[in-house]
Amino acid sequence: MFDLTLSFDNGPTADVTPFVLDVLARRGVKSTFFVIGEKLARADNRALTERAHAEGHWIGNHTWSHSLPFGLMAPDAANSEFDRTQAAIGPLGHARRFFRPYGQGGNLDNRLLSKPVLDHLSRERATIVLWSALPRDWQDPDGWVERALGQVAALPWSLMVLHDLPTGAMRHLDRFIGLIGERGGRIRQDFPPDCMPMVDGEMRFSIDEYVAA
Ligand SMILES: [Zn+2]
Repeated sequence: MFDLTLSFDNGPTADVTPFVLDVLARRGVKSTFFVIGEKLARADNRALTERAHAEGHWIGNHTWSHSLPFGLMAPDAANSEFDRTQAAIGPLGHARRFFRPYGQGGNLDNRLLSKPVLDHLSRERATIVLWSALPRDWQDPDGWVERALGQVAALPWSLMVLHDLPTGAMRHLDRFIGLIGERGGRIRQDFPPDCMPMVDGEMRFSIDEYVAA
């Protein structure tokens, strides 16, 4: 028995996000979409995020440009990336202001954030949502399912990052969800506490190793 929370980063994406939403609806699974702010400038992308929200998924902030980890960015630029994306998400955003930092390939290290950015996120009462399972669907659009099954079996409750990007990986989403059920997994929408170092602007545990010196 294990629990699994699913999240979809880097969208929304025409043709892919609707397919993901269809699969999740058919399977009765709720998840979180961490969207890239600048993508919401397009009306069709905006509509996809509205659809995800209307279908009960949570919407989080995954930076404006997804160009550099915040720990490598000038603090003002990074803070503005967060703010602009919150503004673009607007009322579609979850009340806890979920923010997933950009890890440039999923790296959890000291490029992820900086002290000025953490201070800003705290003032903005953000909730930082990291991850514990990264099957690298974008690099291995067919092989990620086996890797993902191994990762979730190793933890009592995983928070997995997948991507609603046009890699072809999401063709396997329905099969993956079916296999989770067959192996005794339970999919839930909320996040494991050990993936949330900041909740509503308050630090819950230290993440010094993810903060630039
Ligand atoms: Zn990303």
